[in-house]
Amino acid sequence: MDGFNRWLRDVVPPIALILALDLVITVVLLGVSGAPARIGGLRPLNTIPDKGLELFLVGAGVGLTACLAARRLDVSLLTLAIAFVALIDADHLPSAFGIPQPIRPAHTFAFLAVEMVVLGVTFRKRPELVFLAVAAWFGHVAGDQGVFAFFAPYSFAYSPLGPYRIPFAIIAAAFALATGYVVRRRARRALSS
Ligand SMILES: [Zn+2]
Repeated sequence: MDGFNRWLRDVVPPIALILALDLVITVVLLGVSGAPARIGGLRPLNTIPDKGLELFLVGAGVGLTACLAARRLDVSLLTLAIAFVALIDADHLPSAFGIPQPIRPAHTFAFLAVEMVVLGVTFRKRPELVFLAVAAWFGHVAGDQGVFAFFAPYSFAYSPLGPYRIPFAIIAAAFALATGYVVRRRARRALSS
């Protein structure tokens, strides 16, 4: 039970924070985007299970890569990796209520930047969360489908993902390794102090 409580303490606050952030940024970008940019719609329901599995696999890949670098199976890290990857798609929520939205507020560099700052400031003692968020964002987008306005709200010009996939996947892997390295270094320091 102790382990379970600790797991909850590890994973619930960052997940709640990212979910809240995702929704706030979605509302803000909805507000500042012009009508022509609001082309986001809801995917057909029957395609959601596939997408869910894909997000789970990408998240597990990021989490296991981090665990490999940390040299231990860290269930909290693995859970957070899966959640961080999946939660980026929470910016679909307005379209679930029939509101046309810009695609996709959390799929922007602005979201990634705000996410990094907010995580870094809120969880000062867990710097690995910032690295994990970067790995999750790039991993998520590398495997995504559709067109994206990465530079919104600066520009709502949409570009296809094609040429970005491989560099984004490489960045995701590098940051996943860095996440594990930070975890490992802290564990070593805790042992020696
Ligand atoms: Zn997505």
